[in-house]
Amino acid sequence: ARPVIAIVGRPNVGKSTIFNRIIGDRLAIVEDKPGVTRDRIYGIGEWIGRNFSVIDTGGIEIEGEDSLLRSIRMQAELAIEEADVIIFMVDAKAGITNADEEVAQILFRSGKPVVLGVNKVDNLQRMDDIYEFYSLGFGDPVALSGSHGTGIGDLLDAAVHKL
Ligand code: GDP
Ligand code: MG
Repeated sequence: ARPVIAIVGRPNVGKSTIFNRIIGDRLAIVEDKPGVTRDRIYGIGEWIGRNFSVIDTGGIEIEGEDSLLRSIRMQAELAIEEADVIIFMVDAKAGITNADEEVAQILFRSGKPVVLGVNKVDNLQRMDDIYEFYSLGFGDPVALSGSHGTGIGDLLDAAVHKL
């Protein structure tokens, strides 16, 4: 089986945008599990000769779950279960939020390898915005712009290195 890379983070940081950048048109068909909708969230990625599955965890809809924090928590836990490497996505424009810190704690406790991606770094003036994310404790943040497609190679270098 292919190794699995999961993209985790609170809503609106750009997970689906980066997911689409990684998979292109290689969407995978996956049957839903009872209580969990998971079609449209699995894709196939390839980088420097490595093939892997990618999960956009934000697309996992958990039936009956209406609390945002609990939903983010459950998505992170599902990702941890399935993933070999986790891409933890945050938003340079928003800075660190409580929900980001919640996700960080869950990921930290899991002991799974994590790559920290800071999205919405749309121009070089924004590069300074990535430094605050060192405090999340996952090492060097990788600057990304899903809008422009920049940083994806660096992100996949870091993720594949940890597989
Ligand atoms: P998700 O909820 O984490 O899956 O986030 P989405 O991929 O749906 O993106 C949320 C919003 O952020 C959308 O309006 C995107 O167009 C926007 N967005 C995504 N990536 C970028 C980026 O690199 N820069 C900027 N400025 N906006 C972005
Ligand atoms: Mg999404």
